[in-house]
Amino acid sequence: MHCPFCRHPDTRVIDSRSTEDGAAIRRRRTCPECGRRFTTQETVLLMVSKRSGVTEPFSRDKVIAGVRRACQGRPVGEDPLAQLGQRVEESIRATGAAEIPSNEVGLAILGPLRELDEVAYLRFASVYRSFESLDDFEAEIKQLKSDKGGSRP
Ligand SMILES: [Zn+2]
Repeated sequence: MHCPFCRHPDTRVIDSRSTEDGAAIRRRRTCPECGRRFTTQETVLLMVSKRSGVTEPFSRDKVIAGVRRACQGRPVGEDPLAQLGQRVEESIRATGAAEIPSNEVGLAILGPLRELDEVAYLRFASVYRSFESLDDFEAEIKQLKSDKGGSRP
């Protein structure tokens, strides 16, 4: 890794320690050329595997973009979208897995999206849960209605 100050191509590690939660390692480095110090952090890269077999780094922006599409024409602002993206990322990271299939990202979106907007939820669910007919929609809508009735008697 090169020095971020003078671009010298080599640096020396002077200290390494785990973060409190053990999820990362921080290294204190020094540059033998300019003598300045900086800190790097090493974490597990969360990868998403697609159906094609290709893997790519998890992207919260991609989650938000997908949800934004489902929310088109719905009264959903950017703040709730950003919060949803954060919740989805936290729930996926909480699994502790280094790699997850892309459809699990979709499934992790369903819960928070259902709380956010039911119409957008139905649009999204129809894709991720492979609704094949109107019956599937009807069953899901029935479920939404009965859950609502349950929470607000
Ligand atoms: Zn330097």
